[in-house]
Amino acid sequence: MLLRGYTKEFIRPECRPEAQSVHLVAHLDQDIGAALPYLNATLGGFQYIKDPPTISFKLHGKLIATHGRKICVNALKDQAEGEKILEWLKKEINDAWEHRADIEPIFESTPKPKVIDILRLLPKTNCGECGLATCMLFAVQASEGGKGPENCPQLSSDYRAKLENYLGHFRFD
Ligand code: SF4
Repeated sequence: MLLRGYTKEFIRPECRPEAQSVHLVAHLDQDIGAALPYLNATLGGFQYIKDPPTISFKLHGKLIATHGRKICVNALKDQAEGEKILEWLKKEINDAWEHRADIEPIFESTPKPKVIDILRLLPKTNCGECGLATCMLFAVQASEGGKGPENCPQLSSDYRAKLENYLGHFRFD
């Protein structure tokens, strides 16, 4: 096991004491820098920095920055949510490290679908049947993995397949 433990620090944004959300910083007992390219391959980080090794993920609706000796998670509703995410990430890190012989490490950011490319495949009628006011809003959410072709009832089967194919080149968690 690479990562065995950490010390948690919960922070409330100083400039907004009324804010309900908390941030979590976990100080890691072990350096996980060497595991980050494997984690990038398994979880699909949207930003990868080589030196010092850092990956940012958008997972569970949070921004998670993973460094060699530190993990930061923003906008948590409470401490319990942070602890759950941290335990999940610890398992993912250790799994990626354990199976590194079978994983092709990735040393770059994982590309994200482009809003404009998604929009081109939508009917652009702004009918609102997907629950959003415009096709543009739908495209923005689809680029983040929050909507898929199945959520737009106006899509023809042809364009549904095209959108599925396009989004299939990216991974969402
Ligand atoms: S249901 Fe489809 S066509 Fe209608 S607004 Fe949503 S994305 Fe646009």
